[in-house]
Amino acid sequence: MRSVVSAYIGIGANLGDPVVQVLQACARLARDVPGTRLLARSSLYRNPPMGPQDQPDYVNAVARLDTRLAPRTLLDALQGIEAACGRRRDGARWGPRLLDLDILLFGDEVIDQPGLRVPHPGIAERDFVLFPLQELAPQLVIPGHGSVAALCRCMPSTGLVAIAEEARA
Ligand code: ATP
Ligand code: MG
Ligand code: MG
Repeated sequence: MRSVVSAYIGIGANLGDPVVQVLQACARLARDVPGTRLLARSSLYRNPPMGPQDQPDYVNAVARLDTRLAPRTLLDALQGIEAACGRRRDGARWGPRLLDLDILLFGDEVIDQPGLRVPHPGIAERDFVLFPLQELAPQLVIPGHGSVAALCRCMPSTGLVAIAEEARA
């Protein structure tokens, strides 16, 4: 059996009720992925879309998992959750979606295979990934990119806003 690895998952949605989609994705991460525990989730953040601008704002968060799955098996499970939440893969790149689940980090592994690159290729350029990561793990170091704290200090703000979840209760 594989040993336990800490993985960080980027969660994003901008269709339906994106806050609900992100929270449902976390519930499924906690419940539906074998050999895996959901340890923590960041705050939810609202931010403008990347890529095509004629789409709604995104809600993003990051989850921390402990998993015994191999990275490819974890990706398969994440894509299963995306599909269960209604994600369709027929639109433009970075177009609107009900749910996106990306493997940001898988322990300190560096993976460069067809269909799976870890650390996630966009990790060091995306404020909506770096700030929630820093919230969960302020000391984190990203293989090939350095500390998440230093990356956050250099990151220009593009309009990322933390969502006050109690305001929705
Ligand atoms: P981006 O990856 O730039 O955030 P995206 O999330 O919109 O874009 P998707 O359409 O969700 O892209 O995924 C496209 C492909 O990316 C998937 O089929 C998957 O095989 C591949 N992929 C490569 N590395 C990863 C990773 N670390 N996490 C998730 N998918 C990945
Ligand atoms: Mg993505
Ligand atoms: Mg994706």
